[in-house]
Amino acid sequence: MLHDVVIAGAGPVGLFLACELRLADLSVLVLEQNEDSQSPLRRLPFGLRGLSVPTAEAFYRRGLLDEIASSQPAKEGPGRGAQAAAHWMQQPRRPGGHFAGIQFFHDNIDASKWPYRLPNPAGSGLAVTMEHLEAVLAAHAHAMGVEIRRGLGVEGFDQSGEDVSIRAGASTFRGRWLVGCDGGRSIVRKAGGFEFAGTDPEFTGYSVDVEMADPDRLNPGRHYTPAGMYTYSPPGTIAMVDFDGGAFHRTQSVTLDHVQTVLRRVTGIDVALTALKLAATWTDRAYQATAYRKGRVLLAGDAAHIHSPLGGQGLNLGLGDAMNLGWKLAATIRGSAPDGLLDSYFEERHPVGARILDWSRAQVAIMRPTASTRALEAIIRDLMETRDGATYFAERVWGVSLRYDLGDSHPLAGRSAPDFELGGGTRLAQLLRTGKGIFLDFDARPHWRALLSRWSDRISYVGGDADDRLGLSALLVRPDGVVAWASETGQDPEEASTALGRWFGRPSEA
Ligand SMILES: Cc1cc2nc3c(=O)[nH]c(=O)nc-3n(C[C@H](O)[C@H](O)[C@H](O)COP(=O)(O)OP(=O)(O)OC[C@H]3O[C@@H](n4cnc5c(N)ncnc54)[C@H](O)[C@@H]3O)c2cc1C
Repeated sequence: MLHDVVIAGAGPVGLFLACELRLADLSVLVLEQNEDSQSPLRRLPFGLRGLSVPTAEAFYRRGLLDEIASSQPAKEGPGRGAQAAAHWMQQPRRPGGHFAGIQFFHDNIDASKWPYRLPNPAGSGLAVTMEHLEAVLAAHAHAMGVEIRRGLGVEGFDQSGEDVSIRAGASTFRGRWLVGCDGGRSIVRKAGGFEFAGTDPEFTGYSVDVEMADPDRLNPGRHYTPAGMYTYSPPGTIAMVDFDGGAFHRTQSVTLDHVQTVLRRVTGIDVALTALKLAATWTDRAYQATAYRKGRVLLAGDAAHIHSPLGGQGLNLGLGDAMNLGWKLAATIRGSAPDGLLDSYFEERHPVGARILDWSRAQVAIMRPTASTRALEAIIRDLMETRDGATYFAERVWGVSLRYDLGDSHPLAGRSAPDFELGGGTRLAQLLRTGKGIFLDFDARPHWRALLSRWSDRISYVGGDADDRLGLSALLVRPDGVVAWASETGQDPEEASTALGRWFGRPSEA
């Protein structure tokens, strides 16, 4: 059987992309190497993920936000991972975020710097467990008709001008397109000969779940020490970084003795471990594919870029790839895509990835256990306490500053569309659930309705005023919620036609 798209990897990015492609009614097969839908590591509190504003908005625009937000960690089951997550969530804290553990706070942010943001349920993001997120996405994919086959790891592929043959287990599968969402060690990336360029690690990071004879010796929270950094979440979850040049990661197995030695060195505290229940290591290796597409093979998520999990941006970056790629690949397969639409996936997402990799590198730089780094940290801390500083860091951490360079000077072009409230209380996000583009005509002008009728199979025209139209007369929103074109006057049909053709292709014959 020939599928429109075969996706390698049923992680969050592969699952979300599969849902996006099903919105356009394409046939999608997901091949996942693991038999189980959940690895034990994903159930730990370090399976807790912060979802940025663009990610929360993407889920909101597909009607998934409530379900994803419904299981906040504090409400999860009785396991130790859930206990630690609950402990973290229940701590009284001034709302905010952090950069390398240095905090900024909501009440110090100047939101007037974001004039085009209207309040919406995505807020400033949220935290969920990987376990819950993947369960919601898998159930949604299943309900939409995505075929997910587990226990089948992709081993290699051959592509022709027409399709891709994918080898997994003893079988061969065929897809018009293959997307590698198979994580940081992506076989698709390696087999496809994608160049992966970047910087090598400075440390080995550890995420462990332990039992301790004397847990009260460690203070909960994040701490910088003369030997590295550690974060302790009671009763026994610890993340720590050891500046060993990344030497330990994947070269040796993680034993209780080793974790105890590193923990004592990093914390400077004589802690005694009695059991090592789960352990994972990672590094600050920061690499990115120099192309996201070769012929009929594409990359998304960790397969396309890796960096340290400090600062928690990788999942958001990958889900942003999926939201950006889904409708473009669907239009390409359906034959309606204008020239260059699929290439714009790389053109828009590669710079976003590069910026995140640099953001993660900057955080590593401020964690080095040296006196000069501590001095730099003090300066960053001072800057973050200022209103402008807090606003800058919030923009970057929450993803509010995300803007694609579409070559259009309107300040909204390339940004996430404001969640306009339209007549009858309908919000823009609800209209986006179908996966079609949206043309909002606040002045309900006949010339726009006539123009848009020629794209009615790809774009929904909505005429009528909004509760707060932010000074606009009309705007064109892409299926991924990004503003493609906006106008204050509503008197520029030529510009609008250019934008319509650029993002949605030729109009239907009259
Ligand atoms: C400790 C830690 C904390 C983190 N915290 C955050 C955070 O707070 N916020 C954030 O945004 N990000 C965070 N991240 C990063 C985030 O988890 C990843 O970026 C995200 O999981 C990437 O999703 P993905 O779907 O691209 O890849 P993965 O989640 O790695 O999924 C890839 C899937 O592909 C499967 N697979 C692999 N090879 C094959 C193959 N050959 N064939 C078929 N299937 C295959 C795997 O089994 C897996 O199911 C953190 C990471 C770590 C390690």
